[in-house]
Amino acid sequence: MPITFIIECNKCSGLLLATIEQKTKTCPYCGARIDLHRVKRLAKAEDAFSASEMLRQIKSKRQSNPKRPKIT
Ligand SMILES: [Zn+2]
Repeated sequence: MPITFIIECNKCSGLLLATIEQKTKTCPYCGARIDLHRVKRLAKAEDAFSASEMLRQIKSKRQSNPKRPKIT
């Protein structure tokens, strides 16, 4: 399984997963085409399982901090 990144759509701030091999990805939330070399990477995971775990954690952090939606 390739390295997986958790990325943030720069249009709608939706969270999605992308592998290191991908160059572009279409946001499932707003349909924007995302350039994976330019997008903000929130986290890096060694495999898909830990990626989905991280994604879940980031989402729950966002829900508990509605005034600070961006993870830095
Ligand atoms: Zn989007």
